Amino acid sequence: MNEPTVWRETDSEEHRAWRQVFNEVWTGPDLDSPCPVCGARALHRWYLLEDDEAKVFRGVPFSGRGRLWEWCSVCRTFEHYPDGHVPGWWTAPYDVPPGLLRYDPAPVEEARLAAL
Ligand SMILES: [Zn+2]
Repeated sequence: MNEPTVWRETDSEEHRAWRQVFNEVWTGPDLDSPCPVCGARALHRWYLLEDDEAKVFRGVPFSGRGRLWEWCSVCRTFEHYPDGHVPGWWTAPYDVPPGLLRYDPAPVEEARLAAL
């Protein structure tokens, strides 16, 4: 059997702290901040750019629409935004085969680990 890989979304209480951390450090794929749920410094995000209609919102450039996963590698808490905008600064540090993508970030985390 594989190791237990139970992914869970933030609950309403965790969501606030989660958003605060991820909104504060909006500069790259890896965050140095401690996870609001377990305290580990293992937070990551990954955007999938789905079109290239660049736009500017409130002075911030975006490359187009896409999906976002945010997760902690240690406690496997995550948030997923299936329909959002990909910031102009985003460059994917590794690729994930689109056919593997699902609601939780398991395939993204696997690709991240494989690219280390
Ligand atoms: Zn955690």
